[in-house]
Amino acid sequence: MQVFVIGAGPAGLSAAISAARNHHTVTIIEKNNKIGKKLLLTGNGHCNFYNAYQDITCYHSHNLEIFSSILDKHNLVLPFIESLGIVYKQINGYYYPYSNQSTSIVNALYQTALNLGIIFKLEEEVLTITKPNTFIITTTQNTYQADKVILACGSKAYPKTGSTGQGYELAQSFGHSLITPLPALVQLQGQDNFYKDWEGIRTDAILTLFENQQMIKKEQGEIQLTNYGISGICTMNLSGDISRGLAANKQEIININFVPWLATSQELITYLDYKEKTLNYNLSELLECFLNYKLVNLILKLCHLSRDIRWSSAPKEKITNLLMSFPFKVTNTNSFDQAQVCSGGIPLTEINIDTMESQMVRGLYLVGELLDVDGICGGYNLTFAWLSGLIAGGSIHD
Ligand SMILES: Cc1cc2nc3c(=O)[nH]c(=O)nc-3n(C[C@H](O)[C@H](O)[C@H](O)COP(=O)(O)OP(=O)(O)OC[C@H]3O[C@@H](n4cnc5c(N)ncnc54)[C@H](O)[C@@H]3O)c2cc1C
Repeated sequence: MQVFVIGAGPAGLSAAISAARNHHTVTIIEKNNKIGKKLLLTGNGHCNFYNAYQDITCYHSHNLEIFSSILDKHNLVLPFIESLGIVYKQINGYYYPYSNQSTSIVNALYQTALNLGIIFKLEEEVLTITKPNTFIITTTQNTYQADKVILACGSKAYPKTGSTGQGYELAQSFGHSLITPLPALVQLQGQDNFYKDWEGIRTDAILTLFENQQMIKKEQGEIQLTNYGISGICTMNLSGDISRGLAANKQEIININFVPWLATSQELITYLDYKEKTLNYNLSELLECFLNYKLVNLILKLCHLSRDIRWSSAPKEKITNLLMSFPFKVTNTNSFDQAQVCSGGIPLTEINIDTMESQMVRGLYLVGELLDVDGICGGYNLTFAWLSGLIAGGSIHD
């Protein structure tokens, strides 16, 4: 069986290796001059390729119940990574190659593929795929005939890695529909004019997301305050919901709690009352005991207070509100250029979830981020890429 895989990312490579292990003749077409360009960037170059905690709540899809049957097979991932020869480690449930380098995984995928006789057609971009009888694939250089085609072209996120959304058009040319892709795992922009004052601060916080005044999610961890708004892993984990909410004209407000180690504003007031008495510090000195000085200056500026004011004569409610529920109105997300993944894609209702085969065209398979599945930070997006590729490649039979 002549199997052609379009795209040499993690989904395409796992699909190709799995099909070749089933004794098919496999060719991968990749428009870049090397494989796994995005994979190399993952986890800041360390490649967080899987997570021990797998639960439906770590993912988003417009058809989560369908996705849950795919996720049931997540145990396929680690044996596959082991079969490449990769030695890995687990840190708090997050899996990385022991070398700490994504190159280990990309090189092992490449060598395994070569050993299996997989043919690579690099620097060839697929322009069209038709199926008059067998599949006809037209690239910038050649025309190929294939019995089976696995589409693994990724999404529109981080287009400089080659994922420019062409997979959507190729799937649509066979009658597939598309849930509008939106940037996810992406930084958030606001509208206030003081971001220069907090730019560069990294701090622990609890973020509470309100959509149309209704609390929908909470995330805790380190955030980065930037000249356009906020960033950091817990910010990005809220961004998919926010992208979808903004696209539906919903109001998205995040309350930032800069004092996550205290439970209530009353506890903060009691704490500052006590500390003022015992330490005899002014307000800025008290706050700088647990907050970045730039943030202290900003809070004081927003309350029109001088640095040497005493806590006992300050507007306590106003200050504790800003410290524990700082309102950040999200006006936009950063663009696809900075987004790690896309929310949306080809609906799962249009594929056979046992095989990843298209329900529109026999012999066409869709895998990876091209589909309407996205995960939070922590190895979930790669989990889905490996898993969907393995299911597709493993299900091709003569
Ligand atoms: C900076 C960054 C960090 C990330 N870190 C992590 C992480 O630590 N853990 C995690 O789980 N996920 C992470 N992700 C997400 C993860 O990388 C993606 O979800 C995953 O790569 C998707 O795999 P894929 O194979 O579906 O698509 P891709 O990796 O996007 O691969 C698709 C391939 O198809 C090729 N292609 C597209 N169109 C054509 C065409 N017409 N002809 C030929 N070739 C084509 C592209 O060039 C590309 O090589 C990160 C993403 C980014 C951007």
